[in-house]
Amino acid sequence: MKNIVILGSTGSIGTQSLEVIEEQSEKFKAYGLVGGTNINLLITQAEKFKPTWVGIQDERKYSELKERLPKDIKVVAGDKGIEEIIADTNYQVLLAAISGIAGLKSTIKGIEAGKDIALANKETLVAGGELIMNLVREKGVKLLPVDSEHSAIFQSINNPARKVKKIIITASGGPFRDYDEEGLKNVTVNDALKHPNWSMGKKITIDSATLANKALEVIEAHYLFDCPYENIDVLIHKESIIHSMVEFIDTSIIAQLGYPSMKLPIQYALTHPESLSVNWPSLDLASIGTLNFSKPKEYFKALSLGIESGKAGGSAPVIFNGANEFAVDYFIKGKISFLQIAEMIDKALNHIEKIAIKSFDDIVLVDKLTREYLERSF
Ligand code: NDP
Repeated sequence: MKNIVILGSTGSIGTQSLEVIEEQSEKFKAYGLVGGTNINLLITQAEKFKPTWVGIQDERKYSELKERLPKDIKVVAGDKGIEEIIADTNYQVLLAAISGIAGLKSTIKGIEAGKDIALANKETLVAGGELIMNLVREKGVKLLPVDSEHSAIFQSINNPARKVKKIIITASGGPFRDYDEEGLKNVTVNDALKHPNWSMGKKITIDSATLANKALEVIEAHYLFDCPYENIDVLIHKESIIHSMVEFIDTSIIAQLGYPSMKLPIQYALTHPESLSVNWPSLDLASIGTLNFSKPKEYFKALSLGIESGKAGGSAPVIFNGANEFAVDYFIKGKISFLQIAEMIDKALNHIEKIAIKSFDDIVLVDKLTREYLERSF
């Protein structure tokens, strides 16, 4: 039995992780559940899964949460409370599924506590790549990808003796993949939230529409698989059946395929190196018939801005990530247009002084400066 703590249990990845845990209840136990603000869902989850711990980020909700939960569940709130859960010695895997840079601190605490990390929170690795990978090596923990593309790459590189030539990250292209640049001018938040293949949290859904998500994934792959940026390609594949591929030096390409569902990558991150049999259907390629591929269009500027920031290194990807989070929030609130998301990112990358990132405090500082700059200038 593996005990699992889920950070972000009330989100899209969190709820799907609980479905996996329920389906594999002889193998996994939800030992701790942590939400941000959604107290009602957290209580429903706790009543069903009977965890040892329940945590909520929003400290104002602590009393109500404590009152409404059974007395044998330990209830905590805020950074300090969540750190208490993370430091518990009786669980094995921390599933990091908080959205955005807000997940940085808790992921670091998990690594420091010597826990294996099932990583959904890509923004953390984008902003803190080098420091996090050093910490992972120092603590000897496993960093297991939950992101479907990285799970596919991880499953495809299963022979360390075989030299990788290229990683090919696939992208659905999002709801606007067939739009020309002119057409992007008038798209709305509702249009952007209608992802053709995946049901996900709001932030990553908008990132998929701008292709910023693919840039975040390229940077994530660079760190997870120690692969130079020049050897990572992005390929639009609108069916989202091939989740990514690896080309080896002899030009052989290995891909991982499946229906677009996060349950397989979540489960594999929890069972690696083993697999568990499941009750969901096998992929029926004959009924799918055709798989399509094309190059991303250059006017999805968030993609190139993000990859260039990754290549520049230092604080550039922190600025990219912070500006993107800020801009997506503004877009969702109706304060800016879709195309202004990339404009904001570009402006932040051009105006904020680049520094070397030597500590986690540096990341927090650069992220704060980025948001303050954009707040002032828009
Ligand atoms: P959601 O927005 O659906 O969920 C986010 C979760 O994080 C919720 O539980 C939310 O709590 C919690 N949360 C938000 N802010 C804070 C905070 N400051 N402190 C503590 N908890 C917080 O996001 P997703 O599940 O879609 O995505 C989560 C991560 O996984 C992201 O990094 C995303 O890029 C990545 N990912 C997601 C995929 C998907 O299919 N959804 C696929 C691959 C990667 P509450 O709602 O209670 O406020």
